[in-house]
Amino acid sequence: MKRATQYIHAGTEPDPSTGAIMTPIYQTSTYVQEAPGVNKGFEYARSQNPTRKALEEAYAQIENGKFGLAFSSGVAATDAVIKLLLPGDQVIAANDMYGGTYRMFTRIFAKYGIQFTYTDTTDIENIRKAITPNTKLIWIETPTNPLMNITDIAAVATIAKEHKAILCVDNTFASPYLQNPLDLGADIVMHSATKYLGGHSDVIQGCLVMNDPELREQLYFIQKSCGAVPGPMDCFLVLRGIKTLHVRMQRHCENGEKIAYFLRNHPKVAKVYWCGFEDHKNYSVAKKQMRGFGGMMSFTLKDDSIENAKRVLSSTKVFALAESLGGVESLINHPASMTHASIPREERIKNGLTDSLIRLSVGIEDVDDLMDDLNQAIG
Ligand SMILES: *Cc1c(COP(=O)(O)O)cnc(C)c1O
Repeated sequence: MKRATQYIHAGTEPDPSTGAIMTPIYQTSTYVQEAPGVNKGFEYARSQNPTRKALEEAYAQIENGKFGLAFSSGVAATDAVIKLLLPGDQVIAANDMYGGTYRMFTRIFAKYGIQFTYTDTTDIENIRKAITPNTKLIWIETPTNPLMNITDIAAVATIAKEHKAILCVDNTFASPYLQNPLDLGADIVMHSATKYLGGHSDVIQGCLVMNDPELREQLYFIQKSCGAVPGPMDCFLVLRGIKTLHVRMQRHCENGEKIAYFLRNHPKVAKVYWCGFEDHKNYSVAKKQMRGFGGMMSFTLKDDSIENAKRVLSSTKVFALAESLGGVESLINHPASMTHASIPREERIKNGLTDSLIRLSVGIEDVDDLMDDLNQAIG
């Protein structure tokens, strides 16, 4: 089945009891049993819920995987993956990833004796160098947030297999429409479904998709034992979001490309970070593993003062100043003080995330309005 058809039908069958075409919101905590232990496969809603089951099936299908698991947020999905590990295990992680992931690794899990090694994963030799006999997990994000760096998923998957480590890819920025890490050899795909999958800035949710039944069993056990499950209403919202993923992503890509070139040609803009530029450092890898380049980008101004960046951030009228991304509406964000404030300043600057960097999530409004808005804000 082609992707557009799949997104609309994935996981959803008309409800057998009424024929309702949309998956019902099964707002229930428990299920009646005919006799002790005799039931229809649903016992208690932390373990199973029909709305969540439909969505988990959809997650699996849209990532070309066998199994999907839904979590109450993207970070809850990440949390479940790290709980596969034991004290003494080592994780190799990208040095330029979502600030919340970094915060969880350094401030929550490091104290349980899990070792985290951060490196620039865009050069896979760095991963080879960081491997030890204790490496159990490699965690990458591509494109990265907010600098749009690209890591070669297939190349990292080869290294992970050689060393029997699990490769997990945070695929939030690309969405399954642009990139499918399992097809490139990853073991687990993670999403913040809050972003492109939900697509309407109205829900917090995360997911994991995998092919290996044993890994699925372990992660399902963590999901039900630790309990970070989404409610049925939230599952319904993401199911609905996925139906239009392809249409939204097409427009995010079109608008993104126009805005990226507009900014690059703007006399007051210094540098634009977008992975669709042919002179982007990892363009060949991006082109090989992605089907398009999306609507996420960052830029700096020639007047590199923090005051000037803050002035632009407060002057847009269509772009809303807010954290998050991937919704239909355009957002503008200041990583240094907002999404990435939890990363120590020296770490941040060392990795190129300067105080004046501005990040855009280009939405699906009329692109002329978006360009006019940026033009008047940059001044
Ligand atoms: C937002 C985000 C997360 C965290 O997801 P939540 O749904 O906010 O918990 C993880 N990774 C990336 C790349 C994100 O953008």
